[in-house]
Amino acid sequence: MPRPRIVSEIQLKISETAPPSVDSIGPHDWLSEESLSVFHRVLESGSTFEVYLSEAANCKIVSQAEESAPKRLEVMGFMLGEVCSWRGETYTIVWDIGTTSLKNTTAKVRFDHRALPRLFGELDRSGFDYVIVGWYHSHPGHTCFLSKTDLYTQKTMFNQPFHSALVVDPINADIKVFKLSNEGYCEVPFALTCAARESEAVENRQRTRRLRTR
Ligand SMILES: [Zn+2]
Repeated sequence: MPRPRIVSEIQLKISETAPPSVDSIGPHDWLSEESLSVFHRVLESGSTFEVYLSEAANCKIVSQAEESAPKRLEVMGFMLGEVCSWRGETYTIVWDIGTTSLKNTTAKVRFDHRALPRLFGELDRSGFDYVIVGWYHSHPGHTCFLSKTDLYTQKTMFNQPFHSALVVDPINADIKVFKLSNEGYCEVPFALTCAARESEAVENRQRTRRLRTR
């Protein structure tokens, strides 16, 4: 499968940036009781979440999953964003997603290979130095976990320590983020960032980039 040219991992620079502030983040509405209590534990400890999901990216993921839910079709895409580090902890911010035509069934999903060049073209033209920080897909009606195939995908294509896998079940209103752990995988706590702060952050980043390239 051809790789997008957004920013190759060789060029990946991890910037030392403070994570979104506590008053600009919140839990996802679809967190299970257990995931919600982990969210609050991380929040209260003042630790950095491993993944911050922007409201813009969340809206696209959830609406795409919901659109295909009546037919119980799975959807998928790349999560695009930044890898940052703060006080020795690495975290990612998902700013946007990239997806294209899919070959999907009720239990399987993959990109339509004929549509990939268009997707990569769009990503290249997005004008951002985004990195693929992971991928998302839906499990309409069968809860959130990584299947054997999902785990294989993670191990072969998303095996950097910062790569995550988001799984959403639009029928049970459930969402979870996973990372590789030893031979298997584990759930990692993530936070949703608020829209107003987001546009501010994106503007600041764009401004910094413009200044840097002058
Ligand atoms: Zn799956």
